[in-house]
Amino acid sequence: MRPLVKSSKLANVCYDIRGPVMAQAKLMEEEGHRIIKLNIGNTAPFGLEAPDEILQDMIRNLPQASGYSDSKGLFSARKAVVHYTQQKQIKGVGIDDVYIGNGVSELIVMAMQALLNDGDEVLVPAPDYPLWTAAIALSGGTPRHYICDEGSDWLPDLDDLRSKITPNTKALVVINPNNPTGALYPDDMLRELVEIARQHQLIICADEIYDKVLFDGLSHTSIAALADDVLCLTFNGLSKAYRACGYRTGWMVVSGDKRHAQDYIEGLNLLASMRLCANVPAQYAIQTALGGYQSINELVSPGGRLRKQRDLAYDLFSAIPGVSVVKPKGALYLFPKLDPKLYPVVDDQQLILELLQEEKVLLVQGTGFNWPRPDHFRVVFLPNMDDLSEAIGRIARFLDHYRKR
Ligand code: PLP
Repeated sequence: MRPLVKSSKLANVCYDIRGPVMAQAKLMEEEGHRIIKLNIGNTAPFGLEAPDEILQDMIRNLPQASGYSDSKGLFSARKAVVHYTQQKQIKGVGIDDVYIGNGVSELIVMAMQALLNDGDEVLVPAPDYPLWTAAIALSGGTPRHYICDEGSDWLPDLDDLRSKITPNTKALVVINPNNPTGALYPDDMLRELVEIARQHQLIICADEIYDKVLFDGLSHTSIAALADDVLCLTFNGLSKAYRACGYRTGWMVVSGDKRHAQDYIEGLNLLASMRLCANVPAQYAIQTALGGYQSINELVSPGGRLRKQRDLAYDLFSAIPGVSVVKPKGALYLFPKLDPKLYPVVDDQQLILELLQEEKVLLVQGTGFNWPRPDHFRVVFLPNMDDLSEAIGRIARFLDHYRKR
């Protein structure tokens, strides 16, 4: 028999958040070890469940949710998203500009598949949420990573970004608030990014799934609100702010200057119709979620659980010798740096594997987020205060041994 080999289309496709170290953690769990998981932004296992109001509405609507919906989604869900774009000051969005998907993940892949020919380039932040890089590679495109500057609160380095633009560049990905850094981009930065997109005729792909997971009383501006004349795709969903990632529902909004994009939009419509429609029961949750009580605000406000966990994780990591970390303004993650003089790491996946084996704590290595050097790792601060201090204590002990090797 000929060996069955995976498609060459997957040659440059990577998604290390669920990569080999996670597989090892699973094996260890099967052997009976308890692992503290700081590796995935999955809220429910940490007792952060979807609001009951959403769940109850979904249950009530189940009897009428067994058929396919329109390929772009239920009218009520898309209408609620249109209203949300109005609240976010994104102009000119109608029902037909909204696509509901099985989470933002599906829509990211769809948007890239419809856009890219072999060799087309897309600007992606480094570090990034790696699905973007993977989806671009899967679609035949080339991700070009622009550096975000840790010394400037992880904001994009615009000189580096400009230096990576070529005649083949088609799109600019902006992840704000950012996973994995927790950066929140000020309006001036967003305006500069829009100006670059305008000058070079790039589509802006704005991943704003953490737009309500904001600390310190900060507020979020959608880049599309500043880009009436630039084609923007804005991605958001119920996974994070509504703690409903298992429901698999999210949306993509097309806004800005669509006059020259009709063919691309036809491509999006084709791909949306090929997968028939997104999971229908979860679509019934969208209107309730967006229009209902925003319980996320309690979690991120002073005294709120996420806020306290963010502060604790930041303080504990900052106290470890040779570890520095920028305090996240939004999202659910920290992206600490290891001083290479104290920790001369060559292979950060190996480091994370050793941490797992020695201390039963699971993280993701920084290179898994397309960060170019093996000197960072990502931490999810979802576990409760006790588990978080226990896990960070173990990481500190591991790093102490590592330094003294
Ligand atoms: N975008 C970012 C920045 C994320 O962090 C995630 C999930 O962690 C996603 C998209 C995927 O979200 P969804 O659950 O809607 O597929």
